[in-house]
Amino acid sequence: MKIVYYIFFSFLLILLLFATTTFINFRLSGTVNANTEYLSTSTEIIRYSGRFQRNILNMVSGLRGYLLTGERSFIDAYDASNTENDTILAELGSMVADTLQYKLLMEIKELNDKWTEEYTEPLRKAKMLASVSDSNLQVFNRFYRERFLTGDERAILANLQQKFKAFSNLEYNVRQEKKTRLTELVDKTRRLSFWLTGLSLILALAIVVFLVRKISRRIAVMTQMANDIAAGNYDVNIKDPGNDELSSLGYSLNHMADQLFQNISLLKRSNEELDQFAHIVSHDMKSPLRGISNVVSWIEEDHKEELSQKVEQYLHIIKERIARAESLIEGILSYARIDKEEVEKETTDLNRLVYEILENLPVGSNVKVEVSPLPIIYSEKFLIFQVFSNLIGNAIKYNDKEMGLVKISCEEHLTEYEFFVEDNGIGIAPVYHKKIFVIFQTLADKDIFSGTGVGLAIVKKILDSKKQHIRLSSVPGKGSVFSFTWPKY
Ligand code: ADP
Repeated sequence: MKIVYYIFFSFLLILLLFATTTFINFRLSGTVNANTEYLSTSTEIIRYSGRFQRNILNMVSGLRGYLLTGERSFIDAYDASNTENDTILAELGSMVADTLQYKLLMEIKELNDKWTEEYTEPLRKAKMLASVSDSNLQVFNRFYRERFLTGDERAILANLQQKFKAFSNLEYNVRQEKKTRLTELVDKTRRLSFWLTGLSLILALAIVVFLVRKISRRIAVMTQMANDIAAGNYDVNIKDPGNDELSSLGYSLNHMADQLFQNISLLKRSNEELDQFAHIVSHDMKSPLRGISNVVSWIEEDHKEELSQKVEQYLHIIKERIARAESLIEGILSYARIDKEEVEKETTDLNRLVYEILENLPVGSNVKVEVSPLPIIYSEKFLIFQVFSNLIGNAIKYNDKEMGLVKISCEEHLTEYEFFVEDNGIGIAPVYHKKIFVIFQTLADKDIFSGTGVGLAIVKKILDSKKQHIRLSSVPGKGSVFSFTWPKY
């Protein structure tokens, strides 16, 4: 299976687990909300229930007070409580959800109606009329004895109180039951969330470990292969039997290594052929050139008197051209020799090396050379000699100023030295900054500056073989700075 599918399904699984945990918690929060709502309704029911019972007591005492004193204020208190109780009963009816509670409430209403309609209201009316005539007073007294002194009214009241008690108890019971259920649900949800989150984390960890093990070892093998290729070992092969993206990468790397191996082999072969060709051609051309040069010398020596001035001039030109052709051939040979022969490393004092170079160069009195202290290195003396000698030679050669100035200096970096060869000469236009490192590329007028165009190509080849780089910054007419790096160790 492809790695991308592993990652996709793993994340999907973890996501599902988290979604389940969230959903469970969401549902719990819904239940808690409903419970909170229920709790506030329940508190209201209990409050109404207490208020109703207090109103009954108010009505009883109001009625008694009126019966004893005939004071209107007593009956007003009775009326207010009575009206409020009607409202309370209507409110409770709309709030109660439990069927048993509702049934009890209906019975309470019935008892309340019975108490007011059959006892309290008729007695109150009789009392109002009692003061009008004696017969009415007698009616009131009889009524009072029949309805109140018998104890029927008290029985109804006691029944009413009992029913309300049962009603409140039911409310408390339902509340307790809901509370217990909620606590259980919270506990259950917490446990479930804990396990699901734990499971998700363990799963995520297992997936990470699995993927890391599945990927990292194979990536390490591929990194090793890339390092081998970078080190020049192209005969490498990855065996990855999988069927995923890394296997395809391994296959591509194998293919790349194969191609590189073939191309490098081809390149090596054609380079060797080219070197051989350069050698053979150079050597073969050297002897005919020598021959021509000899013939010119013989003519000059043996027929000196017969030669006109013009012919002598031509013979001189021939010798000059032969010398140029010879230095070109020498250049080709030196260029071809670079990195072919093993050069011994030795401790080299670069201050001495530069001094030796300057001694062998045509440094006239019109050129001033400044050399800053240079390091002592352990390296291939012959190669760095070639680099310095070509750069310093050019710095002196390509100078058109009255007083030429050449500065040689060095900067030390962590793993390498950086050397600078600076001059105040003719400079090089930016467009030629790359071109001049190609063999046989010359820019300056050959009649003024003699050159073969091999020097910088040799410098570049040496630095390339040592995996170093060379930089040029130059302003035409003002001068140039060539800088190159050389490994410290
Ligand atoms: P040669 O000096 O034999 O011509 P090089 O490869 O050393 O060959 O240089 C290539 C060309 O680069 C030179 O012909 C010259 O035009 C230019 N060049 C090199 N060094 C300098 C320099 N210091 N100042 C100006 N031009 C330079």
